[in-house]
Amino acid sequence: MLDIPGRTVRATAADLDGRYGTLEAEEVLREMIDLFGKRIALVSSFGADSVVLLHLLSKVAPDHPVLFLQTGMHFEETLRYRTEVTEALGLTNVIDVEPLFIELSREDPAADLHQSEPDACCALRKVRPLSAALQNYDAWITGRRRHQTFARREMPVVEPDGARIKVNPLAAWDQADIDAYIEAHDLPRHPLVAEGYPSIGCAVCTRRPGASGDARDGRWNGFTKTECGIHFSN
Ligand code: SF4
Repeated sequence: MLDIPGRTVRATAADLDGRYGTLEAEEVLREMIDLFGKRIALVSSFGADSVVLLHLLSKVAPDHPVLFLQTGMHFEETLRYRTEVTEALGLTNVIDVEPLFIELSREDPAADLHQSEPDACCALRKVRPLSAALQNYDAWITGRRRHQTFARREMPVVEPDGARIKVNPLAAWDQADIDAYIEAHDLPRHPLVAEGYPSIGCAVCTRRPGASGDARDGRWNGFTKTECGIHFSN
């Protein structure tokens, strides 16, 4: 856990956000990795836009831990893309984070929990495994952006997350910034983007979005759910 005598995580996050929150994304990454060393991990879904943050990390510290939530429900395309991007960027420390087999057999033996209780399924396959993996870290890095959802509109670059610090280097980026960066650096895109999926999660919970124009509209179609649960603590 983060141990700064006399400081709460909230105060430390506010301080770091004040110091680094206006820097370019690459500099935010560099400063946070300098500060936390191997006690900070990047969490990536290897989804539609993930390659931007992974590319920035590869420039700063390609051997830094990258956690991938292996839910067992991904598109085959995502798993191939994970391998392709890892090799192309020279990332040497991508770690699969998996649910416990005993919990899967007890709570979702038919692998159909997502149909009736997606929150329970995300808790089983994402939230609890990530929470366990993060016990090894004081801070984590995400690719979340303010424009993505209403709930993220005021998200700081550095924020408290329970006992940890959460860092969002791309908070101020919009979709045009992401697309321009990918094009400028000739980065590989997730193959499903070309098939009309702007936001990609587990295969069984991802559809092409409707006419709303909201990229995350195709996630958990038919439910009011908009987040998998790993970002609820704030
Ligand atoms: S996104 Fe769907 S399949 Fe994946 S963990 Fe959540 S509910 Fe389960």
